[in-house]
Amino acid sequence: MEIKHKAGFVNIIGNPNVGKSTLMNALVGERLSIITNKAQTTRHRILGIVNQLEYQVVFSDTPGVIQPAYKLQESMMDFVKSAFQDADVLLYLVEPGEKRLKDDALYERLKKNEIPLLLIINKIDTTDGPKLEACADYWREEFPRAEIVPISALNSFGTETLMQRIVDLLPESPPFFDKEALTDRPERFFVSESIRKQILLNYKKEIPYSVEIEVEEFKEEADIIRMRAIILVARETQKGIIIGHQGKMIKKVGTEARKELEAFFLKKIHLELYVKVAKDWRNNDRDLKRFGYK
Ligand code: GDP
Ligand code: MG
Repeated sequence: MEIKHKAGFVNIIGNPNVGKSTLMNALVGERLSIITNKAQTTRHRILGIVNQLEYQVVFSDTPGVIQPAYKLQESMMDFVKSAFQDADVLLYLVEPGEKRLKDDALYERLKKNEIPLLLIINKIDTTDGPKLEACADYWREEFPRAEIVPISALNSFGTETLMQRIVDLLPESPPFFDKEALTDRPERFFVSESIRKQILLNYKKEIPYSVEIEVEEFKEEADIIRMRAIILVARETQKGIIIGHQGKMIKKVGTEARKELEAFFLKKIHLELYVKVAKDWRNNDRDLKRFGYK
């Protein structure tokens, strides 16, 4: 008997910080998307691909839904909208106690949508039975057509059942990507994201949101990968903050990022970091294009 191949785009959407990236990483089994407890950690639409003999699931992790305040955030919301358009299955991720999506138009669109929808209540490890039941009741009323799936992405609890439901819903189709592929992103992307994660973890307030990373060099040699990256800031005054007293801060960022990258690439890494100003890059169309946001 011929085995029919299934494939499709499964796009994860939701408010900031509900665990979208944690879920994608858990489903794919790789740390493709960076995770922190800060909103707007994810800026791009990032693909994570799961391949089995009889199916290929192409997950999309997306930025959390916000009201954009500058052009970078407008582009981020364009990534979210694109995830509405090509989905074969939509995963709307919420956490206990949460109400609606932080954009009314998108929320209404989601309600009217006819794409198969799984409403995933994440972080159930943080709640109890009665509260979870109340939460499920709320969402059942809001989205009568959705299937409600409670999970804890952090503990991979319920993720296997979820994966099974996703595969059930996939249409018959040949694969969209090479069956060896894990993501559509080049290696350099993971270098810049790893550095950006350290910026999110080590700096306060507006700094992480003003930073972009450009990987200038990625040279793989027999026993080492040599990397050089520039940390771009939006204002001159932010340069000194990134560098820190006697260069301590940037050194810490470099060390931590290098450790993570060595675990990711399974190879020794040499990482050089520089800081430059790209004045108000978050509102500059040319810069946004250059950094892959347009
Ligand atoms: P995103 O902004 O939706 O992509 O959320 P992230 O995946 O970056 O996660 C945001 C925060 O929620 C991080 O601190 C995660 O560790 C945490 N988180 C994600 N999933 C769970 C979960 O199932 N339980 C708990 N307790 N925390 C979680
Ligand atoms: Mg994320």
